[in-house]
Amino acid sequence: MVSSSGREGKSVEEALEPLLRGEISHSRLEKLLGNANEAAMVRRLYLERVTGASLSGVASTILDFEELYGRNIENPIGAVQIPVGVAGPLKVVGDYARGEYYIPLATTEGALVASVNRGAKAITLSGGARARVIKDGMTRAPLLWTPSVSEASRLSEWVLSRIEDLRGVVSSVTRHGRLVEIQPYIIGNLVWLRLSFKTGDAMGMNMVTISSDRICKFIEENYGGEARCVALSGNMCSDKKPAIINRILGRGKYVVAEALVKAGVVRDVLKTTAEMIHFVNTAKNLLGSAAAGSNSYNAHFANIIAAVFIATGQDAAQVVESSMGFTWTEVRGEDLYISVTLPSLEVGTVGGGTRLPTQRELLSLLGVAGGGDPPGVNALKLAEIIASAVLAGELNLLAAIAAGHLARAHEMLGRGGLRIKG
Ligand code: NAP
Repeated sequence: MVSSSGREGKSVEEALEPLLRGEISHSRLEKLLGNANEAAMVRRLYLERVTGASLSGVASTILDFEELYGRNIENPIGAVQIPVGVAGPLKVVGDYARGEYYIPLATTEGALVASVNRGAKAITLSGGARARVIKDGMTRAPLLWTPSVSEASRLSEWVLSRIEDLRGVVSSVTRHGRLVEIQPYIIGNLVWLRLSFKTGDAMGMNMVTISSDRICKFIEENYGGEARCVALSGNMCSDKKPAIINRILGRGKYVVAEALVKAGVVRDVLKTTAEMIHFVNTAKNLLGSAAAGSNSYNAHFANIIAAVFIATGQDAAQVVESSMGFTWTEVRGEDLYISVTLPSLEVGTVGGGTRLPTQRELLSLLGVAGGGDPPGVNALKLAEIIASAVLAGELNLLAAIAAGHLARAHEMLGRGGLRIKG
């Protein structure tokens, strides 16, 4: 039977048998069964049969694949579970985030939540983290071919002169996306157009990719000279790859969080001194990173970014560029000034994985689920909170190293040393 939706409504057995005989592919199952949850079950049965592995844990999920299939996943078989802990309260004084927040961290690294938690305590006792988004723009950089450098220059100038027309092209495909600036870059006869967009509360990659496609078509149809779009993403964007261009020019949210940690808090909570933390930061994060040829000058931004990204439904592959950045410290009297700068934090509160039920609950915990009023404020608030959590993690790790506590904490919390006594 084939329904009007094109779904064939077969039974589980009618789908499993041809799958086992190799007569149909996994990607056919949704259409054959007419139900994405049943298709996931048939895939598990098939995999259990051919590999001998049990997938009963993977099968155990609240996810409804009828909701996710075709948007978030293909060939679904179930879900993995990652524990989530909270660190906080963490006081944040930003332009959008104002208050005390519990930070959800999805991780399997023992000691990570405890680390951010102690940093949050020290920052909150010192009056909170001050956070600010300096720049906001998601980028795509299409690559265009022209026959010569003079044509490449002419094309670049023409594109810049037509920016208002290109803004009109963008507003015809998205209500929330807005083209902000265009930075042309020429190598030989080739031109990259690094397009930067405001994307409201969305992280924005689909939005800017669709917009860039329309922009390329407009150029090909309206530019009088010779130009051809070679690749919608010419890698100058730069998405999901370590790239210094993002660190310098920014991508997503360019955000800073800072705190002045009181001398008494450094002594009583962090068990060290401002001078020791400053020395560790200079020698490890700055000199050590320079010596290693690193693209990033921090202790463990990626730990906090990855854990918050997974908890709140961000695109986990963007941890690559989102965790780039600098930690800066100064000794002020006996107090410690500390800041973290994340030039390429790519986050959203709508779209992608933010619509999954547990991820949405955790966005709600931070008061940022869904679209903001006006659009964009929820994503900006989330960026300020994440940067403040990174500050807490960074402060605590530097302090633990300064006080010689790092190995002991990992032994206690990462090797099962801490057990709840019955
Ligand atoms: P999206 O879900 O594709 O787009 C956001 C949608 O939400 C748009 O339809 C937008 O409408 C709507 N919207 C409603 N309220 C909004 C608000 N307040 N602010 C912004 N938009 C609002 O999400 P996306 O962020 O553009 O793309 C994220 C997805 O892209 C993730 O799944 C990620 O994994 C994936 N991704 C794609 C690429 C790629 O090259 N395509 C690369 C990396 C990642 P309007 O469009 O009408 O404004």
